[in-house]
Amino acid sequence: MNGLEISPFIQSLPKVELHVHIEGTLTPALRWRLAKKNNVPLKYATYDELLDSYKVTYNHRKEVNGDDGRPTFLEVYFAGCQVLCDEDDFYELGMAYFEKCRAMNVRYAEPFFDTQAHTERGIPAEVVMNGYLRAQRDGARIHGVHSTWIFCFLRDRPFEDGMKAYEAALQYATVNNGKGLFHAVGLASNEFDKPPLLFEEAFLRARDDGLHITMHCDVDQKDAADHVHEAIFQVCTGRGTERIDHGLNAVDRPELIQGLLDRNIPLTLCPHAYHRRQKTEVLFSKIQKLLEAGVKVSINSDDPTLMHDVWIDGALQKTQTYCALSKSDMVQLCRNAVEMSWAPKDIKAGILNELDAIDSP
Ligand SMILES: [Zn+2]
Repeated sequence: MNGLEISPFIQSLPKVELHVHIEGTLTPALRWRLAKKNNVPLKYATYDELLDSYKVTYNHRKEVNGDDGRPTFLEVYFAGCQVLCDEDDFYELGMAYFEKCRAMNVRYAEPFFDTQAHTERGIPAEVVMNGYLRAQRDGARIHGVHSTWIFCFLRDRPFEDGMKAYEAALQYATVNNGKGLFHAVGLASNEFDKPPLLFEEAFLRARDDGLHITMHCDVDQKDAADHVHEAIFQVCTGRGTERIDHGLNAVDRPELIQGLLDRNIPLTLCPHAYHRRQKTEVLFSKIQKLLEAGVKVSINSDDPTLMHDVWIDGALQKTQTYCALSKSDMVQLCRNAVEMSWAPKDIKAGILNELDAIDSP
């Protein structure tokens, strides 16, 4: 946390998390335990060695920055997935996240999940989603943390594979009398040469099915600003996406900021994820620029256990400190997250009431 401590004020804020990958919340302790349980070999002889592996700074992108021998973020991410094998494992992963949410005063979340990373290892999609579905119910019942999830297409896998995964997942959606796990689709994994428009057909299908649409536009990726342009102006037959995950490169071109404003497309930002690679004054001045322009943003965590264990509360603290925001600005950022969410009306109203009651001079 770069020497920052989370203040009691940040801790007390009722929060909504809109950008978190469930596998990116897998703690080293749970990974270690599930590896033993499922006889999945790890590269690390001891738990301390496993812990040390989280301290390295991953190579951001081999495709863009060259291979310097360090693992990339996604290599580490998919390596972590290997220990998730049966329904209880996926349930435990979800429940561990909701328990953490409760401790951070996260009231509602829209976690990203995918089935492709697991079916390609021979795990049936139903095993994954039945585990998450149980966690969704018990997370609300036991921890008071409500959630509706977001099904992600892995954009670096063949489009047809993603569509097959979607077809298989649809019975778990909130639409068509489905089981109620997810209410939106998104794009995840490696964005290199995988622009949003490659998945146009999938977005149209999901929209016809009654689901919401969001998509990652990764930061400083090759063609990053062009991808933001596609997401705002071109996808969904030119209507644009409903939300963009990251999208920080909108600051690179005035027409992108204007497009976000005109079309009322908000960004789910993950400041700590970018802070790993950008200087404080450079990064937070970009976020300030978006705020001053009136772009609606929320503050999120992304993949906290793979990003120095900085969670949504840490990301909010960094934003307040480095953007020099007031308490009422922070309440507004939390309000943005509620408004940007696709939560049921009663849940939104409850969190907004809590935020209204905060005394924030
Ligand atoms: Zn993400």
